[in-house]
Amino acid sequence: MRTPKTYRLKAEDMDKLFAELEQKYIIYAPVRIQGGGRYAKQDSILYKPVHKYEEIEYKERSTYPMKEVLTPITQTLFYFTEDEYRESKMKEKKDILVFGRACDINSIKIQDQIYLKNGDTEDYFYKRKRGRIKFALMECTEQFEGCFCCSVGANITDLHSIAVSFGRNAYVEVLDEDFDVYFENCQLSDYKIKFPEENELKVDYPIIENIDMANKLKKHSMWDEFDDRCIACGSCTMACSTCTCFETTDIVYLQNAQVGERRRTCSSCMLDEFDRVAGGHSFRNRTSEKYRYKILHKVYGYNARFNTGPMCVGCGRCSARCPELISYPATLNKLSRAIEEIKQEEGIDNAK
Ligand code: SF4
Ligand code: SF4
Repeated sequence: MRTPKTYRLKAEDMDKLFAELEQKYIIYAPVRIQGGGRYAKQDSILYKPVHKYEEIEYKERSTYPMKEVLTPITQTLFYFTEDEYRESKMKEKKDILVFGRACDINSIKIQDQIYLKNGDTEDYFYKRKRGRIKFALMECTEQFEGCFCCSVGANITDLHSIAVSFGRNAYVEVLDEDFDVYFENCQLSDYKIKFPEENELKVDYPIIENIDMANKLKKHSMWDEFDDRCIACGSCTMACSTCTCFETTDIVYLQNAQVGERRRTCSSCMLDEFDRVAGGHSFRNRTSEKYRYKILHKVYGYNARFNTGPMCVGCGRCSARCPELISYPATLNKLSRAIEEIKQEEGIDNAK
């Protein structure tokens, strides 16, 4: 691997860089939306196309994750008439450069696993956009409340093309040779981009070794409290960097019922009708069962299928968005304690 070079650029030079990059890329980054938050006078920070360096909100975590660039909340997959169909076109006519933190970029590895490596079929609509995306790492210089990327090994990434340290002067590390051309006349620097090494919040991430333990945990009383606490709103999964559940709906146009479009819309295993099947049967009726399913899928089910570690990058958005103040890290710690309890009851030796 080549040794990356780092350059020092003033804010105005960054704007020139963005103008050059925009010849080839649509640049997406977290942007502050004044008054766009959940409560009065509260802002939100969303992924939007940007044209200038100063538009990027780098001092706070984005409210919603990077996945919205790849899998928008609603997208039309194809249009149909009675005897033919046409795929929707990609909204972006250029390649895409997305700014994100190490956890955000690592979350795309998990999205890739689910959309591209889950059985024999790749998701066409995901793949066509994913193939045109490159990443710009945003250096994390401070901790945000509820981050625990270090506890899940998502604090370091290698998937980015450039890395940026934000400030009045920016430092840009270039790893991908396709980007060398943009920095030919820039001032070299010996600045080294840093990754987070330790979070204030430490999580005892649970290790569920086998299906037998997962089944015992399903019956544990730790889930009961969520019947009262969780309102099954799905906000945690919408804000989650790694959740991928969606539903598809055929929209038939009013003027001609033979013509319409198929849409894919983000959904959530926490919502009431998500697991309802033909005949009206639901697999998880109690809210505690939905919450338990979500947690065990992230901690056990995903890794049991792909063997690539947790389905979580420790971004902390789920807890930040929960209107009932349910903490995912606290649940993980409880789950670890429940595993210990079961092992002790059964005399299982941890050292084995
Ligand atoms: S489960 Fe929570 S902390 Fe983990 S990736 Fe999803 S939103 Fe982030
Ligand atoms: S955001 Fe909170 S209340 Fe809503 S489904 Fe998730 S855990 Fe339950």
